[in-house]
Amino acid sequence: MHEFDFLQPRTVPEASRMLADLGDECRVMAGGTALLLAMRQRMVAPSHVVSAMQLEGLRGISFDPRQGLRIGALVKHAELARSEVVRRYCPMLAAMAAQVANPQVRNQGTLGGNLCYADPATDPPGCLMAHGAQLVLGSARGERVLSIEEFLVDYYVTALEPDELLVEIRVPAPPSDADGRYTRFMRTAAEHRPLASVSLMTRRDGALCREARLVVGASVAIPGRVTRAEEFLRGRTVTEMVAAEAADIVSADIEPISDTRGTAEFRRDMVRVACRRTIAGLFGLTGEET
Ligand SMILES: Cc1cc2nc3c(=O)[nH]c(=O)nc-3n(C[C@H](O)[C@H](O)[C@H](O)COP(=O)(O)OP(=O)(O)OC[C@H]3O[C@@H](n4cnc5c(N)ncnc54)[C@H](O)[C@@H]3O)c2cc1C
Repeated sequence: MHEFDFLQPRTVPEASRMLADLGDECRVMAGGTALLLAMRQRMVAPSHVVSAMQLEGLRGISFDPRQGLRIGALVKHAELARSEVVRRYCPMLAAMAAQVANPQVRNQGTLGGNLCYADPATDPPGCLMAHGAQLVLGSARGERVLSIEEFLVDYYVTALEPDELLVEIRVPAPPSDADGRYTRFMRTAAEHRPLASVSLMTRRDGALCREARLVVGASVAIPGRVTRAEEFLRGRTVTEMVAAEAADIVSADIEPISDTRGTAEFRRDMVRVACRRTIAGLFGLTGEET
């Protein structure tokens, strides 16, 4: 790997000024699991790396019933998975984090780094979208808050300005009748990254679906809600047939990517299966296993 200067600012404004001064020659690094790989593969060759690890205020997880969860950008996947407050108030998020990659990556990679890299083959963005998450971006100019939909612009592209850092992820407190389920599909058990994912957050009363937020991720350039399926589920008693119909709507409405890991049509089929199983599983139907 080529040589670079390693900078360790203490505050977000200080880091932001470094990024503004050094421009394209500079990259932020948190856990380094994605960035160091990209540097080793010579996809990027920054002359300066600004470490986020010493920054104040980017760590920790807290919960307030009115404000919901606040997750520091430097929180690692493993911390999210084992956090008592996350498991209690947002169990779908904790269950998702426990499935990310492998133990090494979960203990080194941060949630912030995952979101800022904007790799489509990842788990947290879709799950956070189903939760209605917001992201706090900080710079020497101050802070701004974006919805995760606004933050994720395209394949590997986010709304971060060159001098901005992701500071915090905010997740609204789910209502008491909320129930969610996250499903990831991998082509082989040996793969770490999802080929398709479905995040479903509902408000339900037994088999009656009062409200649904359904997000497809990993198989598409950026995760997205499938509003036609959400509307289809709203107010319905969910049976296996309803789950299958909703899954058909989802697979018809997405625009999957095609690459060496799978064609668009294969991904569309896997999303249909993952979606039907997710709905069936959440509503306690037997179709979960088929
Ligand atoms: C073998 C392997 C398997 C994986 N499998 C999965 C998987 O199954 N599911 C999944 O979701 N992910 C998976 N990943 C991706 C993994 O989740 C990310 O690599 C990790 O979360 C990135 O976090 P990091 O702290 O290491 O980021 P870094 O590598 O430090 O940074 C990643 C990018 O984000 C930027 N960045 C980091 N933090 C900030 C910040 N606070 N503000 C602004 N910019 C920032 C950096 O400049 C860089 O561009 C896998 C990765 C590997 C290597």
